[in-house]
Amino acid sequence: MRKIVIAGNWKMNKSVAESVKLAADVVAAAKGIKNVVVAIAPTYLALAKVADVVKGSNVKLAAQDVHWENQGAFTGKVSADMLKDIGVDMVIIGHSEQRSYFGETDETVNKKIKKVLSLDMGPIVCIGETLEERKAGKLESVLTTQVNGAYAGLSADDALRTVVAYEPVWAIGTGVTASDAEAQEAHALVRGLLAKLFGDDVAQSISIQYGGSMKPENAAGLLAQKDIDGGLIGGAALKADSFLGIVTPGE
Ligand code: PEP
Repeated sequence: MRKIVIAGNWKMNKSVAESVKLAADVVAAAKGIKNVVVAIAPTYLALAKVADVVKGSNVKLAAQDVHWENQGAFTGKVSADMLKDIGVDMVIIGHSEQRSYFGETDETVNKKIKKVLSLDMGPIVCIGETLEERKAGKLESVLTTQVNGAYAGLSADDALRTVVAYEPVWAIGTGVTASDAEAQEAHALVRGLLAKLFGDDVAQSISIQYGGSMKPENAAGLLAQKDIDGGLIGGAALKADSFLGIVTPGE
């Protein structure tokens, strides 16, 4: 049975005090939720304080990015050891905003995944095509390049410790969601790519989240798809009720 993983990516939103408040609201709202992994990803600045809030709860702490080196002259960056030290469980890697604004490549994604796994944290590996790529019929080739690049040199055991987030770039923050069928088609494709790399059993065990304007109103249809195992949520994660409204209460 694959795990359903619902992760909130708060992006560059919320002060430290607001983050602590939202984290407390999520912890309270997530209390009855079983069989779903719930994670929140505040800004770096708020991580340490939010770590105290989620401690002992069923809410996991995620970071929005990481650097692959241990330490040194990398102005503005934060290492995996630093994240581990304050209690981070999961790290979002290769988000499309990192790829399009900050020069993230499949190679840096791969380095970050390896580093995060080496410290026993769980990478959330983001992939997805732009609208131009989809319109040009390049969905399969883009996802193939991204999956092969991200997972290069990983063992099957490593791959089992990752979560994939399929996020069509045209659906992120736009209010436009992929239809249930479009999302399922892409998820099946990604699972097929993982099967080619690691075998069908491993591919069947890796959770693949959908990301792109997911909210309580459209979540049920997406989550009912056979290859959709949760969501990476941006806008709707900024309020505890809309974030956890995506998970069926008591599930
Ligand atoms: C995201 O940031 O990964 C995301 C999916 O954002 P939104 O839910 O706002 O589209």
